Amino acid sequence: MKILMMSVRDDEKEAITEWEKRNNIEVKTVDWELRLDKVEKLVGYDGIVIQQRSKVEKAVYPALKAIGIKQITLRTAGYDVVDIDLARENNLVITNVPAYSPRSVAELALAHTMRLIRKLEIFDERMARQDFRWAGLQATEIHSLTVGIIGAGRIGGTTAKIFDALGAKVIAYDLVERDELKSIVDYMSKEEVLRNADVICLHVDLNQTTVDLMGAKEFELMKPTAYLINECRGPVVETDALIAALEEKKIAGAALDTLTGEENFFNFDLQNKDLPSTQLKKLRAMDNVILTPHVGFFTNIAVQNMVDISLNDVVLILNGKTSEHQVS
Ligand code: NAD
Repeated sequence: MKILMMSVRDDEKEAITEWEKRNNIEVKTVDWELRLDKVEKLVGYDGIVIQQRSKVEKAVYPALKAIGIKQITLRTAGYDVVDIDLARENNLVITNVPAYSPRSVAELALAHTMRLIRKLEIFDERMARQDFRWAGLQATEIHSLTVGIIGAGRIGGTTAKIFDALGAKVIAYDLVERDELKSIVDYMSKEEVLRNADVICLHVDLNQTTVDLMGAKEFELMKPTAYLINECRGPVVETDALIAALEEKKIAGAALDTLTGEENFFNFDLQNKDLPSTQLKKLRAMDNVILTPHVGFFTNIAVQNMVDISLNDVVLILNGKTSEHQVS
């Protein structure tokens, strides 16, 4: 069995080598994405693993079938880069890694929250200019705040537990109310969460009901002192409406680990280059906005789990078995 793993970063290579040794299976790593002009390079491989921000082109699915590939394994939780219908039509089994480490993203939500409520972004900027005054930057303590989780699934539930452990009041809105969270979370409507929370953490998956889940109407409901944290997917927030809400001081600030259009800038070195997004330029210019380049997943534990779980799934599928991570 030979497996090709695409878009491999240097930080993943040690975990991949360890897996190869444990399983005695060859894994070739390349730094390019799955694209039509690369399919000929896949000939001779039995299994493939991808991780990419750009969508898999429609013509790739029949091309994979034609060279005998039977699966596309994503080593990410999100699988919106793949067209499930086209995959099914071409007998390609899709798997993802739904939970490589919910803590990795939840801890970034905590870090972003702490940074916002302690106003560290603004202090950093003042310190850089040798302005050592603290006037106007009084912080709030976490246990005095209400944290609202929108989408209390694996990651949102973990975020809820972390904030609860720190003494914050945790409220949540989700289409599904989970019994295991009810001792620490008060479930309420989306509107109530928006009205009551001092920090709103978005942890929904991207689906038809979550595109533009946060728009002008929702920002209108938030407290002017409240912060928005988006660690899930860019399109869940209407970026122009967010920028307007920040400019009009309808909310106090935001931390964004994902942004619509991010495939054009996150994880690129754009130093000394003109940024390809006006929205990104506007957000960067605001001292109450924190941006990170989609790194919620980027921790020691998460990277190891993404490699191990995805490669184990390739082996299962190629051996004709079913993986619990199959996406349908
Ligand atoms: P999950 O499926 O366990 O949880 C998602 C929750 O959202 C579910 O409870 C679901 O019921 C809820 N939901 C869906 N639509 C909703 C709606 N319209 N209104 C309210 N709730 C709704 O997923 P998860 O493992 O917790 O991951 C959540 C998302 O986080 C992923 O889909 C992915 O997009 C994102 N993510 C980001 C990073 C990162 O690096 N920043 C890493 C991993 C995952």
